[in-house]
Amino acid sequence: MSIPVIDFWINGKPVAGNSGRQAAVFNPASGAVVRMAPLADAGEVGRAVAAAQAALPAWRATTPLRRGRIMTRFRELMEAHRDELARLASEEHGKTLADAAGSVQRGIEVIEFACGVPHLLKGEHAEDVGRGVDCQSMLQPVGVCAGITPFNFPAMVPLWMFPVAIACGNTFVLKPSEKVPSTSLRMARLFSEAGLPDGVLNVVPGDREAVDALLSHPDVRAISFVGSTAVAQYIYRTAAHHGKRVQALGGAKNHAVVMPDADLEFTADAIIGAAYGSAGERCMAISTVVAVGEAGDRLLPLLKERASRLVVGPGDRPEVDMGPVISAAHRDKIVGYIDSGAAQGASLVLDGRGIEVPGHENGFYVGPTLFDHVTPDMTIYREEIFGPVLIVLRAADFDQALELVNANPYGNGTAVFTRSGHFARRFQHEIEVGMVGINVPIPVPMAFFSFGGWKASLFGDLHMHGMEGVSFYTRSKVVTSRWPAPAERSAAGLAMPTLG
Ligand code: NAD
Repeated sequence: MSIPVIDFWINGKPVAGNSGRQAAVFNPASGAVVRMAPLADAGEVGRAVAAAQAALPAWRATTPLRRGRIMTRFRELMEAHRDELARLASEEHGKTLADAAGSVQRGIEVIEFACGVPHLLKGEHAEDVGRGVDCQSMLQPVGVCAGITPFNFPAMVPLWMFPVAIACGNTFVLKPSEKVPSTSLRMARLFSEAGLPDGVLNVVPGDREAVDALLSHPDVRAISFVGSTAVAQYIYRTAAHHGKRVQALGGAKNHAVVMPDADLEFTADAIIGAAYGSAGERCMAISTVVAVGEAGDRLLPLLKERASRLVVGPGDRPEVDMGPVISAAHRDKIVGYIDSGAAQGASLVLDGRGIEVPGHENGFYVGPTLFDHVTPDMTIYREEIFGPVLIVLRAADFDQALELVNANPYGNGTAVFTRSGHFARRFQHEIEVGMVGINVPIPVPMAFFSFGGWKASLFGDLHMHGMEGVSFYTRSKVVTSRWPAPAERSAAGLAMPTLG
């Protein structure tokens, strides 16, 4: 049976890739190749950017109200196709259908935010900043913007970017992960059906060659990136070198601090969902628990009991809690981390190595894994594992826990579980992390707030969606105006003008 080859989406049409390079797209649940993705070369990226550049003047001139109406139709189509998109995301990523549907919904909420763009683009106005002089600020589009996205949220992460960029009057080239390209391509078609003019959104799957072509293209004005820290740093450096504005979100090591006064049954349920949901392949997954004082000894059995009950299998089966990881190589890397944790002296409470899913022997599965008594020098603490491996460290008191979290190089998300308002308030005030949960394990901000971490989890100044997204995708201009009366004269002055 021949394997289907997907097309690019350029200038409102499917376009066959001709670089000669392709990547296999797997169904991680079965290990089978489901389609082939062409990998764009510089010429193909150039064609996508040219289409975006050509579409820019008319789109920029389309009023925000009309842009907002097209966004509204897009939102309606996305809702009508939510299950189909979730199925596609689950097929190529491996996450369960319920999880995939939830992440599509979170993406749709960004479109919903962007529907209100006439309001979001309102500037400021001040009358009489000087005698007869008024001043106003306005937000204008940046130009052609590009997005480079990771494998783990095939719909949601692209939706953090292009709806806001496009609503603000920009045109867009999206380079989705070559491991999960189909959801982005499907969304581009739906946007086109909603009335988006040709060329405003273009989708070109590819790898580093396509990324480099975007980073150095003179017509690309802004780069949004989400992925691992090493690549985020490279994107930040290179895009800045080429004079572009850039926001590059990187990897994570998210800690949950559990205080002894917390409701531990509630906390254990919350942590299990946050650690093993999406097989731990979420940038906001809780991968590290810091148990304070005697919380650890009481929490561990609760975590173990719940983690052992999780059903692992293909994500399209309703009884399954946790699907496979993205690839055989990633599974092997995670298994290597589990080997290293055991070798370096952590207690392996639950071992997910060697799990078999009957009927899916070639799928990329790792079972839920739990380590206790992990110390900060161990590799499983120092590195992002991005799999279903939860590690528990012990801290003597709140201050030691806080110090541990703040010393970690990453700063994406974190949570504290406690009944104490005092410790909760200290946590939110003193923690050096961008997104904080108080008895909320995955504090992903809603679309009308902004998403982004601190430290090695974000390179750049502005977070995604919400008002920071609007700031990223617009340039502000300030106009100062005076309308002198017909006969009014003022003496020529060479000193720096002052008003008032
Ligand atoms: P990745 O960094 O390997 O890939 C991300 C994107 O960059 C892909 O489109 C890929 O094609 C491209 N890319 C990969 N290597 C490249 C290179 N050398 N040069 C240029 N481009 C390159 O990340 P991934 O494995 O797809 O995703 C998982 C990572 O993403 C994890 O580290 C996770 O924490 C992170 N992530 C972060 C957030 C966040 O909001 N901070 C959200 C989701 C995922």
